[in-house]
Amino acid sequence: MQNLNGLDMHPEEFRELAHHAVDWIADYMRDIRHYPAVSRIEPGALIDSLPHDAPETPEPMAAILADFERQIIPAITHWNHPRFHAYFSVSASGPGVLAEMLTAALNVNGMLWKSCPAVTELEQVTLDWLRQWIGLAEDDKWFGIIYDTASISTMHAIAAARELADPTTRTEGGSRNLTMYCSEQAHSSIEKGAISIGLGQHNVRKIGLDDEFRMRPDLLEQAIEKDLADGKKPFCIVAAIGTTATTSVDPVPAIADIAKKHNAWLHIDAAYAGPAAIVPELRHHFAGWERGDSIVLNPHKWLATPIDVSVFYTRHPDILKRAFSLIPDYLKTQEDSKVVNYMDYGVQLGRRFRALKLWFVMRYFGREKLAAMIREHVRLAQLFAEWVRADDRFEVASPVPFSLVNIRLKSASDAANVDLMNRVNESGVAFLSPVVLRGKTCLRIAIGNIKTTEEDMKATWDAIQSAASGLS
Ligand code: PLP
Repeated sequence: MQNLNGLDMHPEEFRELAHHAVDWIADYMRDIRHYPAVSRIEPGALIDSLPHDAPETPEPMAAILADFERQIIPAITHWNHPRFHAYFSVSASGPGVLAEMLTAALNVNGMLWKSCPAVTELEQVTLDWLRQWIGLAEDDKWFGIIYDTASISTMHAIAAARELADPTTRTEGGSRNLTMYCSEQAHSSIEKGAISIGLGQHNVRKIGLDDEFRMRPDLLEQAIEKDLADGKKPFCIVAAIGTTATTSVDPVPAIADIAKKHNAWLHIDAAYAGPAAIVPELRHHFAGWERGDSIVLNPHKWLATPIDVSVFYTRHPDILKRAFSLIPDYLKTQEDSKVVNYMDYGVQLGRRFRALKLWFVMRYFGREKLAAMIREHVRLAQLFAEWVRADDRFEVASPVPFSLVNIRLKSASDAANVDLMNRVNESGVAFLSPVVLRGKTCLRIAIGNIKTTEEDMKATWDAIQSAASGLS
């Protein structure tokens, strides 16, 4: 029989290689601006460069690390780059990276309190701290849980809403009569959540917008009334604070009134903008969110925490538990009556120690420094919008409540705007993504990286301006 003792890397070998890896990480963080923001490889190039067959025999770590630099890094789009402005700009800050390293070493699974008390209890503590930072009242008894992404958080919200509206679906399936509502600008994850739980895409109503891309409560009310008249059962409304395309803020207080009137679950999608609630002068954007039945916000978007950590709060953990709890004998423990077992509140059993990185980030920076980061991003967005307005070839295509600026070449075609974006991206200076607003293609410039400076924004603007001058 083979003795597996000593099969793993020897601790001293690990020590030496880990020092090397940490040096690499520190250099990467220091030199991040030397990399092109977006990978320039052609589709399939990495696949072609890697062997077809997996190794049968051991390979030296030196060779693996060399290939990491030679083959993997060129295929990396650098999300940690200060001029990564596509999608939503994020940061893996130093403390977050350290916590991820320790998390990997511990390799714990927090499915139950018993399976690793620290995972459960640190999650409870960090989410209570975050609740306080974002101004949700203790008296409302918010229950927090970490999922991997906002998409999954929202799917759980919809499932809980259905459990409340029609508890028989847990055992009988079905639920075709239920209808839910979000705006035309809602993130695709809302519809995907409905698809995932078998609600059906056609039972998601997309409500029209006002001229600032916000859900119109009058149209919401009309849609609900029509569904009621057709014998449907409106059960869930998703309002967004910080939509993906424009970061618009739906009128939550008016939507909350409608949800209350119709006994519908109100879920607030604040995946991106939620962390901004830690900044007192931005808190007004969040008026009424405390009336939500659930809220999602992603520290991995705008709180300097490495992906993935999505925080979900609900005032009805009992309903969420009713929707998902299923406890086989082998997972019962003597502490069950005294503890939270997070496996009871969602689809997944196994769960990573995600609270550790949030705890590291919250402690290392404190609320003040994280608020200062968000405040600076908002300032940079306003400044950038001013630069754009001062150049009469361009227009700012939507309001700028947070740190996203949408711009377009005013009297140019969609193709020209796409061409402009591609030229900027190919330059490697910055990475921008497109968005279509009122039928016109715009360039979306998201600011959210902890290292982004005014000089970075100037470099991005210079790249856009010179690419615009080069357009024929
Ligand atoms: N909701 C909003 C408003 C978003 O902008 C996004 C992603 O950008 C999501 C949800 C989905 O986030 P995730 O990637 O964490 O699923």
